Amino acid sequence: MIKILPADPKAAYLAAQADIDAAIKRVMLSGHYVLGPELDAFEKEFSAWLGTAGAVGVANGTDAIELALLAAGIGPGDKVVTVANTVTATVSAIVATGAKPVFVDIEPGTMLMDVTALETMLATLRDPKIKAVVPVHLYGQAVDMPRLMEITGRHNLFVMEDCAQAHGSLVGGKMAGTWGSLASFSFYPTKNIGAFGDAGAVTGRDTALLEKVRLLRQYGWRKRYVSDHHGRNSRLDELQAAILRVQLARIEAGNRRRDEIARHYLTALKDTPLKLPALAEGRTHTWHQFVVRTTRRDELQTHLARKDIVCGVLYPMPIHRQPAYHDASLSLPHTEQACAEVLSLPLHPGLKDEDVARVVREISALLTAANGRTVPGS
Ligand SMILES: *Cc1c(COP(=O)(O)O)cnc(C)c1O
Repeated sequence: MIKILPADPKAAYLAAQADIDAAIKRVMLSGHYVLGPELDAFEKEFSAWLGTAGAVGVANGTDAIELALLAAGIGPGDKVVTVANTVTATVSAIVATGAKPVFVDIEPGTMLMDVTALETMLATLRDPKIKAVVPVHLYGQAVDMPRLMEITGRHNLFVMEDCAQAHGSLVGGKMAGTWGSLASFSFYPTKNIGAFGDAGAVTGRDTALLEKVRLLRQYGWRKRYVSDHHGRNSRLDELQAAILRVQLARIEAGNRRRDEIARHYLTALKDTPLKLPALAEGRTHTWHQFVVRTTRRDELQTHLARKDIVCGVLYPMPIHRQPAYHDASLSLPHTEQACAEVLSLPLHPGLKDEDVARVVREISALLTAANGRTVPGS
């Protein structure tokens, strides 16, 4: 039986092989490999697709977060509010600027930043060190951005959206990545737009800040060999940029296929005891992950793995419980419970209908014995 993977970058390559091979060959024969015409074109195409002022390609999604915060002047002594059910990258980037992360709990349904809790926290703490908020559009669904922008606007905070899992996600018809002053994207191979290596971008409506990011990604050079700012090397190379142009042209079709599979899961699993993804009104979910919840998460994951169905857990341990960022005094009940219960079912555009049916069948076999008994996991 073939193995069903949670994500499948190789399938993404095979689906676009002729175009990707042609793009690679074009770059190889151009003689131009770093910061060239392919990246220029990708930045223009990507920002046009989002409907925002511009995009700056960088080396990866983590750098995108860090450089965006640095461009906005975030640094030592500042605090940045985010959530603890995210990949370490979000927090690692905040800490790398010298700022301190502050965690707010999530909504139990969508598992996204609870903006009401954010509002209460800001009003209670009244901490002038809090300078920025990093909402994470987790799993493919965006945070309630109209309310978040209203709240952060009242407190005069900088907003940097983490869009690594939200390529094409809409809130009220407006793309994730176009709400905050800046936004970060990752093109890690498993993301909805994936490179075949590392890549990322900063987008946004603040053109002055974008220009600053553009300098920071290459040593702060405005003029070659003369640094206006302290920067670094965080360049996105021409091979990845050329490949990303191919992937960008395929994103709408890919997201449509993801939606088809998600709809199938939602219908086919509705009579199981699994808690299915909560869809917020007025937002489109782009299904980077299809995340179900159950207190029998580990048992279900093991059962499926035995059947060659590989599921991910995003994320098994909240950031404030990880050794590097441990904070024993902090309690985030909804975050902690989510991390204990979440399981990502396989979902990527390369999945066939029969693969999806097999996943559903194996879940049902474990969780819904007809006579009310549960089938032993072993
Ligand atoms: C993938 C991801 C990142 C980091 O992106 P890299 O390109 O791997 O550095 C940041 N935030 C979230 C939410 C992600 O999923």
